[in-house]
Amino acid sequence: MTEQNTVPAPAPAFPGGTILGYPRIGRMRELKKALESFWTGATAADDLEASAKELRLATLARLAELGLDKDASAIPSNFSFYDHVLDAAVTLGAVPTRFADLRLADGSVDLAGYSTIARGEGAKAPLEMTKWFDSNYHYLVPEIGPETHFAVSSTRWVDQFVEAKEAGYLTRPVITGPLTFLYLSKPSDEAPEGFRPIERLEDVLEVYGNLLEAFKAAGAEWVQIDEPILVADIDADRDEVLANAAKVYGSLATLANRPQLFVAAPYNSLDDALPVLKDSGVEAIGLDLVRGGVPSGTDLSGVTVVAGVVDGHNIWRTDLDAALRKAAEIEALGATVAVSSSTSLFHVPHTLDGEEHLGAELLSWLAFAEEKVAEVVTLATARAEGADAVADALAATRAALASRKAHPGTNKADVRAALAAVTPADFSRPAYAVREAAQDARFGLPELATTTIGSFPQTTDIRKARAAWAKGQIDDAAYEEAMKAEIERVVRLQEDLDLDVLVHGEAERNDMVQYFAELLDGFDVTVNGWVQSYGSRCTRPSILWGDVTRPEPMTVRWTAYAQSLTEKPMKGMLTGPVTILAWSFVRDDQPLGVTANQVALALRDEIRDLEAAGIGIIQVDEPALRELLPLKKKDQAAYLQWSVDSFRLATAGAHDETQVHTHLCYSEFGEIIDAIDGLDADVTSIEAARSRMEVLPAIRDHGYERQIGPGVWDIHSPRVPSTEEITELLALAKESIPGKQLWVNPDCGLKTRAYAETTASLEHMMAATQAVRA
Ligand code: GLN
Ligand code: ZN
Repeated sequence: MTEQNTVPAPAPAFPGGTILGYPRIGRMRELKKALESFWTGATAADDLEASAKELRLATLARLAELGLDKDASAIPSNFSFYDHVLDAAVTLGAVPTRFADLRLADGSVDLAGYSTIARGEGAKAPLEMTKWFDSNYHYLVPEIGPETHFAVSSTRWVDQFVEAKEAGYLTRPVITGPLTFLYLSKPSDEAPEGFRPIERLEDVLEVYGNLLEAFKAAGAEWVQIDEPILVADIDADRDEVLANAAKVYGSLATLANRPQLFVAAPYNSLDDALPVLKDSGVEAIGLDLVRGGVPSGTDLSGVTVVAGVVDGHNIWRTDLDAALRKAAEIEALGATVAVSSSTSLFHVPHTLDGEEHLGAELLSWLAFAEEKVAEVVTLATARAEGADAVADALAATRAALASRKAHPGTNKADVRAALAAVTPADFSRPAYAVREAAQDARFGLPELATTTIGSFPQTTDIRKARAAWAKGQIDDAAYEEAMKAEIERVVRLQEDLDLDVLVHGEAERNDMVQYFAELLDGFDVTVNGWVQSYGSRCTRPSILWGDVTRPEPMTVRWTAYAQSLTEKPMKGMLTGPVTILAWSFVRDDQPLGVTANQVALALRDEIRDLEAAGIGIIQVDEPALRELLPLKKKDQAAYLQWSVDSFRLATAGAHDETQVHTHLCYSEFGEIIDAIDGLDADVTSIEAARSRMEVLPAIRDHGYERQIGPGVWDIHSPRVPSTEEITELLALAKESIPGKQLWVNPDCGLKTRAYAETTASLEHMMAATQAVRA
């Protein structure tokens, strides 16, 4: 044997430009359509497989066409039928016991079984869904216990790599890492008190080892392992997390037969986890250089850094000069540098193509997924061949950035002046006792006052009318009539039910953020800018690009009409500044707090107009307050300060006798209870049915003195709660909170429910309230 034969071929270098992931739902939401028709039974599993394959191959072709190297692991294989964390769970064999019967002889689940785990069926609850880091994407929470039997239980990850390879693309498989997987999991039903999923790390690690060997055998040169958990401050000791990171990557790096390892850490900076990964022996590390800075003074020699310089989480065109500087700074720390998106691009829509209505100037400021891929390719070319090779692209970018900066809409004198004129007094209302007395005198509401969160079922008729109006098939007057008829029906229903505080039902709103975005200046909306929210569900975030103004009242006409139909108080409905920001793509050229305050001033004017129209109760929803909470503890206080301030600026102009409500869509708010108290709303409604009022003792102990409406009906399912059940929940609530402070309401808005269960559930809610009052 000659010596040559024993010298291994040099390991393939990491490609110069890549992205961490690509939208999975399809440019025309092909996957959504294929999934939903499979779920209704209109198509079979084979049809779904075929549609998904077609989508994957089309995506590969498009990414190669845009310039990602199809032979060098630059194209990520990151397809998922529903959710990437669920994929990790079924691949590792982590299927909860209640779904055990869905497993086939080889331990895998088919597409029907997979869908059942995601969506539930009959009495089988699906996996819980929760927000993915600080994004609006929801992942499914795996359930892990001592009984979980870990073993490679799906070949899909490897199959998809092979499918691409056979089609001529050497892709880079993307998988959720073991630390992120376990730290995001929750204990299974069988797990004993105090059990933590991370206790199963050894077993999981072995399966990851098997998976990496399988990728290697299939011909993969690089595998991307996503470990965003390493950038977040979580409920675990940081030393433990770092020790586990050293163990996992130290161990995977020593596997004999493995592809090269690229550990990606999107959403913020790695901080003290960076040296741990660097020393572990993995070949490449991904840094988010949009949210996190360039790590100063760290020696990065010997490792490839995949520099995330193109924002994967927002839609603004990249400052290519600044991106090149960051890449050079990383190189100066000794690393071999590749350029990339900061996160997977699945947080942004597919393409600007088809959005020409936005106008050439705004379009020139934006980059959706396809345009971001082109930016990465430009940056990689500049690094490989010098800036001259991409001189035109650099010039075009500079011109677009200059136009954005100089545009009058991004810097309106009147908005700037109004904000500058705000004083500390504008953030505060008089003491609660004063307001409470004024509101009691005005409304004389009973103990356990009843209301709903705002929306009533969005019926097919409502959607049809809106679609017809958008297409010009019916005129404004006809649309207005249709919505008024809907409002009247909702008001009559609430009167029949004898609710204390009524709502108009939000029939005229397509979405609680987009509705306002369409009426405020400084925003634009896309026609096809869909982003996956969870499973087949997509949202179309608005673009908040300029200074915000309110050309005219937005809700007064509808609310006043609703009030004219009843003697009972009609609650006005607004979406709060933080939620408007959280569910839009927001300008990145000024602090979020400034943008939030601009929105707040517009809402403040709206509240004044509602008051003038005789509306005495106004709810400002902030369901996203928790979602934007920064991943690092050190950043949280500043966030809570500006977010709470913006809510107060929006609402503190209300008269003492105006009752301000807010609504938050979650119950685990232990960590932000001060902030919720700080909102200073007269009434706060929260989700509480599923957790059986669990949060109320903490609220009591916190000394919360204002009113609270813990939800008594979980509106996320069509199930109708019985009167007895609600009575029990109310009794539980009264153990913590005096009746005088308690409201009775569902967990959230009813827009996704049908009338049958809505009416029945509200009847039971009213009967239970009567019983408890008596
Ligand atoms: N007022 C809104 C509704 O009822 C609140 C929705 C939400 O909290 N997400 O639909
Ligand atoms: Zn809600």
